Amino acid sequence: SNPPTLLEVKGLQVAYGGIQAVRGIDLEIKQGELVALIGANGAGKTTTLKTLSGMLKPNAGTITYQGESTARLPVHHYVQRGLAMVPEGRGIFGRLTVEENLLMGAYYRSDKDEIQKDIERVYTLFPRLKERYKQLAGTLSGGEQQMVAMGRAMLSRPKLLLLDEPSMGLAPIIVQKIFEIIRTIAAEGVTMLLVEQNAKLALKTANRGYVMESGRITFADSSEALLSNEKVQHAYLGD
Ligand code: ATP
Repeated sequence: SNPPTLLEVKGLQVAYGGIQAVRGIDLEIKQGELVALIGANGAGKTTTLKTLSGMLKPNAGTITYQGESTARLPVHHYVQRGLAMVPEGRGIFGRLTVEENLLMGAYYRSDKDEIQKDIERVYTLFPRLKERYKQLAGTLSGGEQQMVAMGRAMLSRPKLLLLDEPSMGLAPIIVQKIFEIIRTIAAEGVTMLLVEQNAKLALKTANRGYVMESGRITFADSSEALLSNEKVQHAYLGD
């Protein structure tokens, strides 16, 4: 059986004033897929994610999520519709505790028992956060803050999770841990678009990948095919 398309992007263009950061890209993500978006610094990956999550408005193109255009969707409805982003730099609330941060992710929910269950589930995925649930998030290590940011996104019960550079600034052992959780969340049925500098790890984790270069998609293929593509290897995989 062919899973339905969750997100379809056509001819997307995004500019900052006169600077064209995204120059007409097409993307398609089917339900249950884990898709990687890789490319050099400044290629337009973060801009793409910010546009998909409603933080930036495109100047051309269409974004169709769950069969509907997002053009007129108010920003606060994105999360309610299951579209959640874990931003680069994590965007956690440093003066709130770990648990208060997690609860911010459930801001639009009122099902208290289910919220509590989801908190417990996050603590099962990240035992470290359970140990530190009362600690101010600003005092956590970078890896723990990444866990908080992912946990908070989980509390919104996402259907599509947009992850921006989850490995950024983290020690290799923590990166492995974070990616283990990404695989677990994916296995539980959450569809994901993963932006990563660590292209090799991203492609090894994802089913499919897009390569972005100067605002355009230059390769779109299965992870396997991208990992064995000589041009991709040479430019992005350090081979
Ligand atoms: P990185 O990995 O560094 O985040 P990226 O692939 O995510 O890179 P973007 O951050 O999307 O790339 O940047 C794409 C282009 O848009 C770059 O040329 C960048 O300089 C420019 N840009 C990004 N943010 C802004 C902004 N707020 N104002 C002006 N130009 C911006």
